[in-house]
Amino acid sequence: MALGLLLALVALAHDDARTEALAGSNAPASVLKRQALVEVEHLDYEGRRQRGTLVVDASLAKEVREIFAELLDQGFRIEKVRSASAYRWDDLASMKDNNTSGFNYRKVEGTRRLSNHASGRAIDINPMQNPHIGHDRTGAVYDREAPGTLAKGSAAVRAFEKRGWTWGGKWRRPDHMHFEKP
Ligand SMILES: [Zn+2]
Repeated sequence: MALGLLLALVALAHDDARTEALAGSNAPASVLKRQALVEVEHLDYEGRRQRGTLVVDASLAKEVREIFAELLDQGFRIEKVRSASAYRWDDLASMKDNNTSGFNYRKVEGTRRLSNHASGRAIDINPMQNPHIGHDRTGAVYDREAPGTLAKGSAAVRAFEKRGWTWGGKWRRPDHMHFEKP
């Protein structure tokens, strides 16, 4: 009985967190209902263990959990991980705050095409260390030696690639922060 009540309360708390993480999104209901909340642990730039929340398509939740566990083991630094709802879905504000995020119902920068973020099938990591070359509006500088930077052949990039994700850092106009699995 007591355990049942506890489990019910935990489920309610999770529902509240999910509601908050999706609040104010202009995505269609069919897209919203596919989004899952993934609680991750990460090392911040001071080396402290932190908890963060990512929103991704439910079919990717398990492997995203595995990838972030691997990044934690590697000692890879991630400044913060919040749903873009914390920035009212303003991607520029999220990037300037160096936030790592997944789902955001938005277009590809400079186009009318929906981004893979719009379906929760893309994740941006540490935007201030990993700029999108040619589209950057944050003033971020790419220095592959700086903590939290994604680089060709690095363990952090491999954690995604070995699970079938594509890294934007290899594109003609590198989007260093971006991983996707359409
Ligand atoms: Zn992206």
